[in-house]
Amino acid sequence: MERFFDYFAPSHYDLDLKIDAEKTKLAGEAVIRGDVKAETIKLHAVRMDIKSVYIDGTKFESFTHTDGVLSLGGQALGEHEYKIKFISKIESDMEGAYLSTYEYNGEIEKIVATQFESHYARECFPCIDEPIAKATFSLKITSVTTDTILSNMPASFTTNQDGWKTVEFAETPRMSTYLVAFAAGKFNATRAKTQHGVEIAVYAGLHQESADLAYAAQFAADVLDYYDDRFGTPFPLPKMDLLALPDFEAGAMENWGLVTFREIALIANEQSSLDTKQYVAIVIAHELSHMWFGDLVTMAWWDDLWLNESFANMMEVYSTDKIRPELRAWEDFYLSAVSGSLSRDSLPGVQPVKVEVNSVEEIANLFDGAIVYGKGSHLLLMLMRTMGEENFFAGLKEYFEKHKYSNTVADDLWNALTSHADFDVKEFMTPWLTQSGFPVITGESQTRFLLTGETDSTKYPIRELRDDLSGHYIINYSDTEFAEKLAHVSEMSKEQKLRLLMDRRMLAKTDYVASVSLLPLVKAFANETDSVVWELVAAIVADLKAFFDPKTNEKHQFQAFVRDLALPSYRRLGSVAKESDTYDDIQLRATIMGMMLYSNDEEYLNEIDNIYYGKPISKVDANLRWVVGSTLVKRHDELSSKYFNLYNKTPDAALKRDLTDALTNTRNHDIAIKYLDRLMDGTIRPQDRLIFYIRLARNYIIKDEALDWMFRNWDWLRKEEGDKTIPDYPRYVASLIRRPEEAEKFKQFFVKYKDENILSRDINVAFSEIDSRLKLISTDQAAVYEYLANN
Ligand SMILES: [Zn+2]
Repeated sequence: MERFFDYFAPSHYDLDLKIDAEKTKLAGEAVIRGDVKAETIKLHAVRMDIKSVYIDGTKFESFTHTDGVLSLGGQALGEHEYKIKFISKIESDMEGAYLSTYEYNGEIEKIVATQFESHYARECFPCIDEPIAKATFSLKITSVTTDTILSNMPASFTTNQDGWKTVEFAETPRMSTYLVAFAAGKFNATRAKTQHGVEIAVYAGLHQESADLAYAAQFAADVLDYYDDRFGTPFPLPKMDLLALPDFEAGAMENWGLVTFREIALIANEQSSLDTKQYVAIVIAHELSHMWFGDLVTMAWWDDLWLNESFANMMEVYSTDKIRPELRAWEDFYLSAVSGSLSRDSLPGVQPVKVEVNSVEEIANLFDGAIVYGKGSHLLLMLMRTMGEENFFAGLKEYFEKHKYSNTVADDLWNALTSHADFDVKEFMTPWLTQSGFPVITGESQTRFLLTGETDSTKYPIRELRDDLSGHYIINYSDTEFAEKLAHVSEMSKEQKLRLLMDRRMLAKTDYVASVSLLPLVKAFANETDSVVWELVAAIVADLKAFFDPKTNEKHQFQAFVRDLALPSYRRLGSVAKESDTYDDIQLRATIMGMMLYSNDEEYLNEIDNIYYGKPISKVDANLRWVVGSTLVKRHDELSSKYFNLYNKTPDAALKRDLTDALTNTRNHDIAIKYLDRLMDGTIRPQDRLIFYIRLARNYIIKDEALDWMFRNWDWLRKEEGDKTIPDYPRYVASLIRRPEEAEKFKQFFVKYKDENILSRDINVAFSEIDSRLKLISTDQAAVYEYLANN
């Protein structure tokens, strides 16, 4: 793939950008100094009009600008300065410099903010938009005087004139274009300062209270200090801003000194649920670890994206656990990174952690969360436990010291770590990173584990077999060994219990273990009080739901099984928070109520009616809100319109997420079908469309229509959703398919996209996932039904 950095290496950018949010227009001037290395140089310049080009002060007319590339021929080698004037449109598509809006006091307020990763800086200003092309940046941003204007560095000079305000920012250190950021709008803010003297500010639109930004500010200050100490190289910028945006495609973005977030990932207070507090802390910890992994030291090219994301995904839990142990961050890691990555990595055709990137489409298609984030971080945990924690961090310290402000490849990291290990780290890690999949260990031997039941000759290096959760493999105990383990479950550590359940859950998806054996297995955990172990029990129960069609006798039997499983805990915990609650009680209560809801137990449904009906949902305990709302909506249609109004009105993103669960659980077909229209008319924000849709498609009342909706509106979705989001539709929908006629429709529709760059991987993986599930249902269903009929 052609790299523009080979022709021109910029050393400094002066960017003068005038934002006109009213006219959705951006007018800019970029002065770029750098080293010309070829006769023709090329700059990335997408979706903009180039007005003029000057080279070393002389007007240059014979440039070409096609397909997002600005080409300048006949250049003299050596140092030169390019001055380029341009105009672009500010769109609402959540990439480049984009427009985000919200309502406050009956007015529509506008924010212009940026999202440049992975390759969208080129939509804002002409540049060499490749991570290796590090340069310093001096930004000068103009917007209306009522706006606060933010960027990576502190403001150094501000002028006001005729309703416009211009802010000049201090020069940045050497950095990659995808990390440049700015934002202009009216914000509330809460400030803090780290022990080491860095100014922290947390910003959000005026519709968010300053008080709700304090939790994030304090956590950010604490975690930044922690990283300073742990990594040995202090955070080099004088300030750290964190900004919540009402429209945001990903979860958050690690722009150096100005990290941007979805509102749900930054806003929490004392009344927030434990899940929200944990999530906000973990996302902040993730992004701030990127200030080192990614910002200070950057991958040379996108094939080493894991150097950013796998590390950030491990550090987010490692550091959160150190500074807020009460949030139990590792539990989130077990359920998402470990369990999630094993599930996805068992499918043939899934990408490895480190993957070749040879086109712009492949950059967009690189962010498979379960692999680059989840599996990558799981592999790093394995490496850390194998090397020993202190050796591991000693190696990282050396790595940062040696490579700060520059770019690296995997070998640079392996070299730094190997000097603190008693084995060759590269030799150990390379097969894990470059091969997809993982092994199942039976006795002394390993075999690649695939959900399809097939296998191949891929081998994975294992230095020591551990029954905690650090190894990216599963262990296949014999029935006798397994029964023995189960008999002594009370003596096991949390990680050992989780591994036992996780491995068995994976094995049961293939011929290794019969699905029916999962029923007595979950029963053996009925008296468990640990909430994370229960989460996994609930996940196994959720897998088993695939065997049952709605409203059949077998399904009723399974619902009764689930009720019996959950009932002892429900009796113990009830459906209202207690003064004496432990962390486990709080978390487990919601899980158990979710199971009671699934079982459709009359006594439970009546109890929830008696306690919660008529109470405003926004006032319900945040830990229980989703399940209380989901329960009430099932019986009371009139609540649907009430909740939907609140969904539209509230600025509280966590409440909106809970209401999404509740609304999509309606049993009224006429109500459910209207939500499909709301996905398209802007009532549901584009950033929330996918999650709302998937939740809805999960509901059997509307599933067929929801699938048809996606097929029918596919071209529209392609246009509306970014390249990073669109593959999530087939990916998540595949997880809902379990009937042959659904599978048929899915395949018939997507077969034509099987070879299309952005979609091909996800579609091929989806096809095998669906085939495996259908095969499993046909082979294992009868035994599951028989067990339920006889027990
Ligand atoms: Zn990240």
